[in-house]
Amino acid sequence: MRLTKVFMLTTALMLTLVTIMLARSLIVDWRTSHSAQSGLQTMELAYLAMKVAEKASAERGPTIPVLNDTVPADPAKRERLNKAREASNQAFAAAITGLELKQQSTQSSAIDNAIASLTRAQLQLKVARAEVDRIAALPYEERTASGSNIRRLPIDQMFAVIDAALDSVTQLTAAALYIYPQLSQPLEGARLGAILREYAGRLGSQFTTPLANQKPLLDSERNDIHALIGRVGQLRQLIEMQAQSNANEPRVTAALAEMKARYFAVGLPFIQSLTDAGTAGRPYGVDTGQFVTRYVAEMASIVTMRDAMFDVARSGAIAQVAEAKRNFEINAFIGGAVLLIELCVFLLLRGRVLRPLLSSTRSLVNIANGRIETALSPTRRRDEIGDLQNALTALQATNVAKQSLEREREALIGQLQSASVTDYVTGLVNRRGFVERGNELLAEASLNKRSIAVLLLDLDHFKSVNDQYGHAVGDTVLQQVANVGRSVVRETDLFARYGGEEFIVLTTPCSADDAEALATRLRAAVEKQFFGVDTARLRVTISLGVVCAEPDQRVSLESLVNQADQALYRAKAAGRNRSVQLRAA
Ligand code: GH3
Ligand code: MG
Ligand code: MG
Repeated sequence: MRLTKVFMLTTALMLTLVTIMLARSLIVDWRTSHSAQSGLQTMELAYLAMKVAEKASAERGPTIPVLNDTVPADPAKRERLNKAREASNQAFAAAITGLELKQQSTQSSAIDNAIASLTRAQLQLKVARAEVDRIAALPYEERTASGSNIRRLPIDQMFAVIDAALDSVTQLTAAALYIYPQLSQPLEGARLGAILREYAGRLGSQFTTPLANQKPLLDSERNDIHALIGRVGQLRQLIEMQAQSNANEPRVTAALAEMKARYFAVGLPFIQSLTDAGTAGRPYGVDTGQFVTRYVAEMASIVTMRDAMFDVARSGAIAQVAEAKRNFEINAFIGGAVLLIELCVFLLLRGRVLRPLLSSTRSLVNIANGRIETALSPTRRRDEIGDLQNALTALQATNVAKQSLEREREALIGQLQSASVTDYVTGLVNRRGFVERGNELLAEASLNKRSIAVLLLDLDHFKSVNDQYGHAVGDTVLQQVANVGRSVVRETDLFARYGGEEFIVLTTPCSADDAEALATRLRAAVEKQFFGVDTARLRVTISLGVVCAEPDQRVSLESLVNQADQALYRAKAAGRNRSVQLRAA
């Protein structure tokens, strides 16, 4: 696999894996943050449910005077009841609306159950109120008849309302604790505070009828009072246990101290003294109104303590929501930065390393193959890739110089080779060239069974030309004779300067007659023209020795030349300016 592909694949794989890892971690962070938020909402809803229990419980206070009211009815008592009912209604509306809103965004059985409990409580309260109003409308005697339990019924129904409301508190507190187990102490403390408030209220309710009638306590009432005092004591212990772990919370410590100082040091002993009086048949010394004023005032400290506990839990949850959100943001930022850096490194590696490396590889391959497609130029890069590119540029330059030297050398060798077979005076093939090429032509002719002729030409009395006109004019004549010869022979004929003032022609295929004709043409061509220079015009003749070989005759070049020389000798001897032909032997 090519390195580029490996690089791209590994980078893509790495980026994908890192993205998946980051996404997973962010999803976890987001879920944590979301669940913290949801836990806080559930906690707030638990508080709204506590408020329902508190307000519905407080509604009992003004209900009893209305039930016990004389004729004509006291509008002030009714007014107080209406106000209390309005407060309960508002608490119900707030809690149920909040829960229904939450139900739309979350699938939670705790929310569903809490809504069911509160709706049940709301319905029970409605029934109880109708009962209260019905009884309040009855004639006074009918309501207050000795031994009649008639006023007790709606109050019991109202107790059931609080039980249902406290059910929802328990459901919601448990759901919030599931998300914030570390906030169990303050939250549980607040829940117990709500229950304590209810039992303290129930304890007070026990005295409304005896005080209204200023009658001793019945046995059943005394038993209920004892049971309730016991329950209140238990709740106090439980709350103190929960508060111990919040000892460093000044709000909780202060509220707990106040609850002890007010409810447990004043409110509860007051109840105790009334119980003692009611048991012994002594006068109570207070009427219902005075009792409510004194006792309810002390009970407020329980609500304060409940709220302090709840505030601590809420603060803890808010801090956790903020922390989860911060974690999510920090991780998202770091994750984004990691991805960005990785992408930059990838682009940097591709642009600064991989691409230059690839182009360098291509250049190197080209240099190795002797191809120079584009001229490299030096780079200013100061790193290893820069060194590589500069080395390649230098290598290419060396190679270019080497190639040019090589070409020069080859040209020179060509020139030398050509010079070694060329006569520099006439430009004709020299004797060496004639022997080389002549042997090749002879072999071809023999192979193809072709006739062949050799004509040896010699200038007549050339010595006297030199003697008379000088050596330079002699050279010119030699060149001019060579030109005449060139114009007469065929292109395929081998025409060479054989030595001194001798020329030679090798021609094939060529019969004896053709050879004779060629010799005549050559001789005539030389004879008819002037040679030399303007100042020295002269005529020249040539003698020729011709030898012909038949197509199937096997004869060497050396032998042919020798025989042509013999023929030439005869031509000279016969008087020159003629040709003598011999049949090759
Ligand atoms: P013949 O008719 O018997 O051939 O007489 P000749 O004078 O031509 O022959 P000889 O062999 O006596 O002389 C040849 C002369 O050719 C001698 C030499 O000066 C001249 N010669 C040979 N080569 C060259 C050359 O390259 N340039 C010049 N200018 N003269 C040459
Ligand atoms: Mg000669
Ligand atoms: Mg001669």
